[in-house]
Amino acid sequence: MATRGGALTRALTAFDSFREHLAQLVAIPSTSQDPGHVADVHRYLAGGIQPWLERMGFTVEIHPNPIPGFGPILFAERLEGADGPTVLSYGHGDTVRGLDEQWRSGLSPWTLIEEGDRWYGRGTADNKGQHALNLTALEAVLAERGGALGFNLKLVLETSEERGSTGLREFVARHADRLGADVLIASDGPRVAPEVPTIATGTRGTYHFDLVVDLRPGGVHSGHWGGLTADPAVVLSHAIGSVADRHGKILVRDWLPPNGLSAGVRAVLDGCPVGGGGEAADIDPDWGEPGLTAAEKIYGWTSFIVLSLLSGRPENPVNAVAPNARAHCQIRYTVDADPSGFVPALRRHLDEQGFPEVRIENASVRMPASRTDPGHPWVRWTVGSMQRSLGKPVQVIPNSSGGLPGDVFVDFLGVPLVWIPHSYNGCKQHGPDEHLLIGPAREGLAAFDGIWWDLGEPGTP
Ligand SMILES: [Zn+2]
Repeated sequence: MATRGGALTRALTAFDSFREHLAQLVAIPSTSQDPGHVADVHRYLAGGIQPWLERMGFTVEIHPNPIPGFGPILFAERLEGADGPTVLSYGHGDTVRGLDEQWRSGLSPWTLIEEGDRWYGRGTADNKGQHALNLTALEAVLAERGGALGFNLKLVLETSEERGSTGLREFVARHADRLGADVLIASDGPRVAPEVPTIATGTRGTYHFDLVVDLRPGGVHSGHWGGLTADPAVVLSHAIGSVADRHGKILVRDWLPPNGLSAGVRAVLDGCPVGGGGEAADIDPDWGEPGLTAAEKIYGWTSFIVLSLLSGRPENPVNAVAPNARAHCQIRYTVDADPSGFVPALRRHLDEQGFPEVRIENASVRMPASRTDPGHPWVRWTVGSMQRSLGKPVQVIPNSSGGLPGDVFVDFLGVPLVWIPHSYNGCKQHGPDEHLLIGPAREGLAAFDGIWWDLGEPGTP
């Protein structure tokens, strides 16, 4: 007889061969950030994923991106009828660039290498390892149920996520009638700590802008002019210093959630750990908004980050007062802050602080924020399912600290968002030495096995 326990045993057995399978997927250098790999991106979908899905009974289509020049989007569905719920899942088959020469010796982006409790390789964490785990769990449930699921499953796998999910919004809008579902359940990003199973019910948004001080057509002699004419690097540094203080507290207060942390967000984050950065970075307890916990800072608040800062030519300094200075800045924000007010608030602030010459350029939302109420029935149902499978508490957060295109699915499909990340903060996605932790991966497989199983049982919301 098919049982939940039987499905779990099958999934954990499959974990032994999962590494080999993931290694094949990692070996396809499907970076979307390098035009030389356009064919690899397509090969990932058509060669790496499509045959696997078809073996599981999915109908698979690979659509060109609605925006010319961006990667294709795979849509797959496996429909059993109207009785069970319909679930939409999501992942991305593209990765950031390999950065081959920056990986530590013995490692390389397109080869999966196991060391200790880690699988190294580009995409192991972001996002190949995550969607492949979920599909491996699905395979186990299908086998246990004799080729049936008891629910309907749709999957969108895009390949321009690392270029801002360009085209996904248009694709989902165009196919909204076919993508309709009761809930989105998908995986990307980090758990709050490696050992803590996590559900994120949304994502923070990302907003980008440049701060520019451009004072003259070219550099002028630093002996004859230094001390006489304004130095754009000094002016820009002070302007940035007026945006955030010495300890990272944001001073443009109109960027923050206008009513502070809501009681709901505070409650769900009460006791939430933040950890597991490993050698990647340390939490500086005095950095950021005073009085907030680490979890409140990255899951409930606004962050300001200077992504790059340039004046003159650092690789070849000359004795000149530079003509200009430029910073590329980012704001991470939750649904509680309104991005349409970011630039007006910054302009007012810079003028008040005496920086009328500092220009704000190229300002725009890259990924909007999104959030499903952490108390939503589908969230509570998923927490219950995961706790049954894993035998330990699940931490719910009102949104992931990073960005994901959840807003697209909310806007056009109205689905609640249940993100179940399998990675951790120290995984070095987007840098050299990206890796997936084996322990959380194994738990993620078990969690999804239980979720896929329970979706075919009575008692779904
Ligand atoms: Zn990424």
